Parts: sequence; structure tokens; C-alpha cells
Amino acid sequence: MDMQEKITRIDKLRKKRNAVILAHNYVLPEIQDIADFVGDSLELSIKAQQSDAPIIVFCGVSFMAETAKILSPESMVLHPNPASGCPMADMIDAQKVRSLKKEFPHAVTVCYVNSTAAVKAEVDICCTSANAEKIVSSIPENQEVIFMPDKNLGANVANELQREITLFPGYCPTHDRILPRMLADIKQQYPHAEALVHPECSPEVVELADYALSTGGILRYARQSNKRQFIIGTEEDILHRLRKENPGKEFILLNTALICPNMKKISIDDVLKSLENLQYEVDLSPELIEKARRPIEKMLELS
Ligand code: SF4
Repeated sequence: MDMQEKITRIDKLRKKRNAVILAHNYVLPEIQDIADFVGDSLELSIKAQQSDAPIIVFCGVSFMAETAKILSPESMVLHPNPASGCPMADMIDAQKVRSLKKEFPHAVTVCYVNSTAAVKAEVDICCTSANAEKIVSSIPENQEVIFMPDKNLGANVANELQREITLFPGYCPTHDRILPRMLADIKQQYPHAEALVHPECSPEVVELADYALSTGGILRYARQSNKRQFIIGTEEDILHRLRKENPGKEFILLNTALICPNMKKISIDDVLKSLENLQYEVDLSPELIEKARRPIEKMLELS
């Protein structure tokens, strides 16, 4: 079967099954092109919450598919390739959160959505890279805050808000490998370009950039800006949408190392098989869904 035939089958099956396909901005371009909606974690969470589709095919890493299930428990949520996980999410588990809570009994626990359902079930409130500052700002100044699992996002929020935050030492291997000198070099090469980076990059990289934005924020900024040239410091396949939506503008990837191998694990074949065989269903216990939903809903109320 060639690519066009596979896409035609996917379209037929999605109609027949009344399924919706959600995809993250980092997945392969061909998956973004067949999705009903492409977005960042926050946008996808809102879509999942609002969706009344009986089947959601979630093209992103596993914690994102879990979040869709938590917010849309009546739907069957399918993750086309369960091997597509997130190394940062796996750096922390529920036990580690419980130990932190014992160590800092008065602290508010803020958890980046890039975490498993079991971790979310232990925390006070979630955040995404799009709303992390807003969420931390909602916590009274005199209250201690523990931020997990991304030390970079947490440190960038702390710097922005001039606030002390206890950080769990997790990180995204894709964004953390970006060094300040890589950005300094490319800025020299393209002196008129604006540098937009993701806040999963280190504070030293963020410091050198013009703006640190979520993927949704980068897309919005690029659309509205009257600049013509941008250096992009996040996963390479966001360039697909940026170029599609802004034909007259130039987007330069900050560094060729900006690839998340896990986001690339979902193929068109996986999506087709997922719709054909209803695989692989995200299965979370009702108790876990109930516990993990509270911090996500708190976040959505504030977003
Ligand atoms: S880009 Fe980083 S945080 Fe996002 S899924 Fe990949 S490893 Fe996880």
C-alpha cells in the first residue's frame, strides 16, 4: 500500500469509527497532516477535555495519551505506539514525589504535565510550558513551591518571577543538550533573526534568546510578528507547521540535535493499525483517573 492509499484508509476508518486524531507539534509531518487537530500539551489537553468523540487516537508520547484519557475518561483513547515514551517523565515516579512531600511537608507541589498519571495523582497542581508562570504565580508568595520534573522549566519560571523554587533534577534530553554557545554562534550567523526557544532549554540558553515560549506560543508569535527570520530552539518538526503557516518567513533550527526520537516513533502505519485493530488502548484505573484529574483540572481552571 502506498502512502496515499494508507491515508485514504485512515480517513475511511476515522469516519466509520467516529474517531478524532490529535497530534503534538513534534510528531512526524505526515502525522501532523492527517490529524484533526495539532497542538501543544495545553491545547491538546483542552481538546481532549472538550471532545465527545467515542475514540481519540493520540499521536504524541505516552504521558500525553494518558492525559487525554484522564480528561476524557468516557472515550476510548488509543496510543498508536506505546514505545513512544518521554525520558523526562520517566525520571520521576510516585515514590519520589511522596519522599519530597515528606521532606517539604508545607510546600505546594507543582508538576509539569510531562509526567505519568501516577505522579500527577500525588501533586497539588499541574502546569504546561504555556502556563507555568501563571500557575506558580497563583500560589501565595509566602508558600514554598516544589517544581517537578523539569529543572530547566522550573528555573526559568523562578527567574522570571524572581521567586525561590525547589527544583527536582529532571530534564528533557532533547532541549537540555542545547548549549549557550550553540545559540550564540547561530545568532552571529543570522544577526537579524529573532531567537525563539522552548523553556525546557537551560536558563543560560533562555537568557540569550529573544523569547522562551511553548510550541503553541512559538507558532502564535511567528504568525503575528512582522519579522521575517527566526531561529527556533525546539524540536525540529515544529518547523513543518511554522513553514506551512508562514510561507514568506524563514525558520532556522537552532541545532540539528533538536530531535525527540520518541515523538518520531509514531508512523502512519501505526495510526492505520490503531484504527483498524483499536490498539493500543490507554488503560488507567478509575481511582487513578480521579486522583490525577484534580491537579490537571485545577490547572485548566486557571488557564
Ligand atoms: S521533547 Fe523532551 S520532554 Fe518532550 S517528549 Fe521528547 S523527551 Fe519528553
